[in-house]
Amino acid sequence: MEANDAVLSALASEIGEAERAVALTGAGVSVPSGIPPFRGAPSDDGPDPVWESHDPADFHRRRFDADPEGFWTDRLALRETMYGGGVEPNAAHEALAALEARGHLDTLLTQNVDGLHAAAGSDAVVELHGTSARVVCDRCGATGSAGPVRERVRDGERPPTCDCGGVLKPDVVLFGEPLPDEAFDRAQTAARRCDVFLAVGSSLTVRPAALLPEVAAESGATLAVCNLDATDYSERADYDLRADATEALPALAAALDG
Ligand SMILES: [Zn+2]
Repeated sequence: MEANDAVLSALASEIGEAERAVALTGAGVSVPSGIPPFRGAPSDDGPDPVWESHDPADFHRRRFDADPEGFWTDRLALRETMYGGGVEPNAAHEALAALEARGHLDTLLTQNVDGLHAAAGSDAVVELHGTSARVVCDRCGATGSAGPVRERVRDGERPPTCDCGGVLKPDVVLFGEPLPDEAFDRAQTAARRCDVFLAVGSSLTVRPAALLPEVAAESGATLAVCNLDATDYSERADYDLRADATEALPALAAALDG
């Protein structure tokens, strides 16, 4: 971390002086909570990527439409792989919640659907890909808590249905589905209005994550990237931290307090 100390302290000063700072988080923030990433190379010291053991095609919108019963069976198996041991927010989630609570973070954009930012106490969260903590009725649009619905699925109700008779779907963006306009609009507005844009734990290759730092930079924001590996934005970022988010973000929060 030593090489990053000067970068962290300079970034902390900018965030401290910023009118609005926005953070964007990706899978790298959830991996330290034991949640495997979807893609990437199998690693020795972490969980294997999800798509090593599950087929993305099983979670496509077409599959949900054609075979909702099979979709939900596979969905429970996927959930077991991802959250099997029970997952808790880690130091990175907590540091971001602390930054918001102290007025240093305006909006938190996330690609993650695990709900851990909310669990850590972050309020101003825009979930770009939805959240697996909720279900939505495919017919009437009613939403509800996912936990009880998953229990019904385990008890044999496949697919689970709404009072209106429509099929319930996890409230996440499936392959083949567009991003929710409202979330994307909020994310773009936040990126356009911020002075500092901090991308954490994302390779910034998948849209819309690939697009938002661009929107922020074009509007004159300072661009900061914190990721273990280089990203598509590392070259042009004003601050490029090659660090574990669970170390860098608490250090950033501490520097802002100091
Ligand atoms: Zn309904």
